This record gives sequence, structure tokens and C-alpha cells, in this order.
Amino acid sequence: MASLFSHAVAALSMGTCFYRSGTPKRIWAIGALCSVIPDMDVVGFRLGIRYGDFWGHRGFTHSLVFAALLAGAIVTLGFREATPGLNHLSLWAYFFLAAASHGLLDALTDGGLGVAFFSPFDNHRYFLPWTPIRVSPIGVGRFFSDRGLAVLQSELAWIWVPAALLAASVWVLRRRRSAVET
Ligand SMILES: [Zn+2]
Repeated sequence: MASLFSHAVAALSMGTCFYRSGTPKRIWAIGALCSVIPDMDVVGFRLGIRYGDFWGHRGFTHSLVFAALLAGAIVTLGFREATPGLNHLSLWAYFFLAAASHGLLDALTDGGLGVAFFSPFDNHRYFLPWTPIRVSPIGVGRFFSDRGLAVLQSELAWIWVPAALLAASVWVLRRRRSAVET
């Protein structure tokens, strides 16, 4: 895993692409939640589920199918009516991207098993060809250690800075567009 904070930061920065004035703040909170839910699979370690299993860490809950189902369930159950500026498809797309970004970031880390992107069709674990992010220890206690500090530094460089750049670019583009329109 990358740390939960960093997954949430990535989801919030993607939210800037979907932002419309009047969109309720809970949309961004739900997006952040979607980005951390895949790591609920770590409870499997306590239940005797092995890392490489279907329900193991970075297994099905980190797949694209899970992200699509999670986003679909949230939109279907939580949003009978669309929200200001965002129709149902946009809501689904945001929640899907937030959840799917989790697996993508994990596949950029340098440890553990890879990510079962294509589960349930293929339980093979994949990494991206380039893995610059130091893998985060599992468990909050172990995060606050020397290794945790190294992880934090690599996440700042490879997740927080790009996330801030994305948010800033979207903000600048929007300001330019509204300046042209007025
Ligand atoms: Zn994960």
C-alpha cells in the first residue's frame, strides 16, 4: 500500500477535474473514501487469508472490476438524484477513478505483491514497469518509524507533488476559461 493519506490526496486532486460550483463537499469525502476502501482487505491477514489469494491484500478489492462495482453501488444507493453540475455518469466516473487510482498507486510501489488489476478474470499480480514509491508498512503503528519517514518522503515526491500540480493546473485552466467567457 501507499499510505491511506496519500491515496486520499490523489482522489481529492482528481476531484478538481469534476468540481462544479455548488457540488456538495460530501462528494469529495466519498471520493477519498473510495480511494482507501481497497485496503480494507488487510483484515484478511487476521482471518488467515494469504496475501496472494483472491481476497488477499491487493487482490480483488484492488481490481478495476471492484472499483466499477463500488462506484456503481454508491451512485445507485446514495444518489437517486444527480447533484448540482454532476450527472450520474460523472459521479460514477469520479468514484471509479478514485477507487481505481488506489491499485495504480500500489502498482508503483517497490514492495509486497503486485496488484490484481484484472481480478476476477485473472488473479495475476502486476506492478507497473517503474516503481518509485517506497512501499508503506501495513499498520499505522509501524508507519511512525524511520521507514515510515522514508515512505512519507517518497509519497510526497511521487503522489502529493503531482496531485498538487494537477489541482493547480485545473484551477488555472478554469480561471482562464472563465476569464475568456466573461
Ligand atoms: Zn492497497
